[in-house]
Amino acid sequence: AKKSNNKGYVMYKKQQRFSHNQMLKLETRLHDAIINEAFELYYQPKVNLQTNEIDGMEALIRWFDDELGFVAPDQFIPFAEEVGFITDISEWVIAKAGRQVMIWNEQFNLNMRVAVNISPSHLKAENFIERLKNILKANEISPNSLEIEITEMSFLDQNADLLSTITQLKEMGITLAIDDFGTGYSSLSYLKRFPVDLLKIDRSFIHEMYKNEADVAMVAAIITLARALDLKIVAEGVEEYKDLLLLRDFNCEFVQGYYYSRPLTIEDFSKRLIEKGIQ
Ligand code: C2E
Ligand code: CA
Ligand code: CA
Ligand code: CA
Repeated sequence: AKKSNNKGYVMYKKQQRFSHNQMLKLETRLHDAIINEAFELYYQPKVNLQTNEIDGMEALIRWFDDELGFVAPDQFIPFAEEVGFITDISEWVIAKAGRQVMIWNEQFNLNMRVAVNISPSHLKAENFIERLKNILKANEISPNSLEIEITEMSFLDQNADLLSTITQLKEMGITLAIDDFGTGYSSLSYLKRFPVDLLKIDRSFIHEMYKNEADVAMVAAIITLARALDLKIVAEGVEEYKDLLLLRDFNCEFVQGYYYSRPLTIEDFSKRLIEKGIQ
């Protein structure tokens, strides 16, 4: 069941299954939200550990519904996948985030990329590449400014179509990142077969790794693997200075996390850029 706190936010427990009535309600509200573009994007800085400067950002969707209150993406994104709304939502995200990074790059004379999360079902949609090209063109978004994050789940059924899609993304100049790396069920063989650029180490390994030898060993091993395969590394969910120090020791290239910044509104992100870098 849902719980309302005193701010009127509706909070669903993670992984909780919805009742039939809740699903109907959610589906109606989500459908309305898509039509009315009732979403917002927040942007979390990705920081270069060597220079301490903002290198780029990840776009993260937010939905504040008039009736339901705040619904977390962990809740409505899986639902949107199930009911077939995910492509509409993701295409909105790509257009919005892509446009925004072009504006920032021009305004601050930078060359940043924005990362967007793409669900497996969207990636595998038949006309994915064609529609993506149209969105980039219509919004004057350079493919070089776009990074696509997919999880290992996308590689569960590795097939020729997927290889072709990903190869086409690369040919367009789009950067490809593996999200939540280390938590998927896929074998590592896809790293050899697919032209991936970047691994994002899941925050379950990073968070308080300084307290846990096994986590430190895993992170060190992932970074070694990435180096050998010529992949860049982003450590996600860095909250503690002690974890940051370990990542520095390992020469990890990029970090994201509350230690540097939570996801920000456009206005707050712009302020960070004006302050030039982050510290
Ligand atoms: P994700 O792609 O792994 O995104 C990272 C999540 O970790 C975000 O949660 C972010 O706010 C949070 N985070 C960042 N730094 C820290 C930290 O230091 N500590 C902690 N505890 N958390 C941190 P968020 O925004 O709630 O998103 C949750 C998930 O929802 C995302 O996980 C992603 O799978 C999905 N999602 C979010 N936006 C989109 C979107 O536009 N499209 C799609 N398809 N999925 C999205
Ligand atoms: Ca992500
Ligand atoms: Ca992640
Ligand atoms: Ca995730």
